[in-house]
Amino acid sequence: MTDASALRTAVVTGASRGIGLAIARALAATGTRVVMIARGADALAARAAELGANAIAIACDVGNVQTAHAGVDRIMEIFAGPPDLLVNNAGLFAMAPIAELAPAEFVESLQANLIGPFVLLHALLPAMRERRAGHIVTIGSIADRSIFPGNAAYAASKFGVRALHEVLRAETRGSGVRATLVSPGPTDTSLWDAHDPDATAGLTPRASMLRAEAVAEAVMFAVTRPPPTNIDELRLSPS
Ligand code: NDP
Repeated sequence: MTDASALRTAVVTGASRGIGLAIARALAATGTRVVMIARGADALAARAAELGANAIAIACDVGNVQTAHAGVDRIMEIFAGPPDLLVNNAGLFAMAPIAELAPAEFVESLQANLIGPFVLLHALLPAMRERRAGHIVTIGSIADRSIFPGNAAYAASKFGVRALHEVLRAETRGSGVRATLVSPGPTDTSLWDAHDPDATAGLTPRASMLRAEAVAEAVMFAVTRPPPTNIDELRLSPS
């Protein structure tokens, strides 16, 4: 049995497009108040306005500890406490062989894909534990367990965020706080715009990729299970 109405409040990072926007849209449609986070303030505000009164835009860079903390302060103020659901989704995808990967790009990937999720989690978890309720969804990737050449920055950050989820799950078992890792295969979003998957050998053509809405459906499934059940991990790939 599902119960979306139990989710009164949620935070979705990377919510201005792609998978995060699909998740925010699905949550807002079931009546959940959703704080949407991304760096680009204008696009974020426009998407939040489209979702209606349940959507609140907070522009911040989750990879920057200072601005992420400012975002957390706003969240705690808006919801008068921690959200029922945190979806750590914001992410960057850099593709280059190690010798050609700029160190700054490696650092930026770790900041967005790993440090950002940690900072939000670290700031919101204590109040969730105190309330003995809350759900943290981490958006991993097929690359949180598999590597391919040219994928050092992404795989290092996604292996790391999967490990962070697994430690979180172990530390919160029995606490009332739930944790789910959702790991999609290739999904047709703007993440691929710089890589031309239709013309690059070894990449899945866009038409064969998952749709962002399918990933959002998997997240909605996990977060609407009755509280005694924790979905530890969901892995999605094109059929
Ligand atoms: P998109 O590039 O389409 O969207 C990324 C979103 O994250 C945007 O809203 C972007 O907005 C935001 N964002 C990026 N960096 C930051 C940051 N430092 N702080 C705040 N917001 C940020 O990507 P997808 O929707 O495809 O990806 C979403 C998640 O899904 C990522 O974690 C990705 O790794 C994962 N994933 C994607 C797959 C795919 O094939 N598309 C497959 C598997 C996993 P802005 O730029 O304005 O900040």
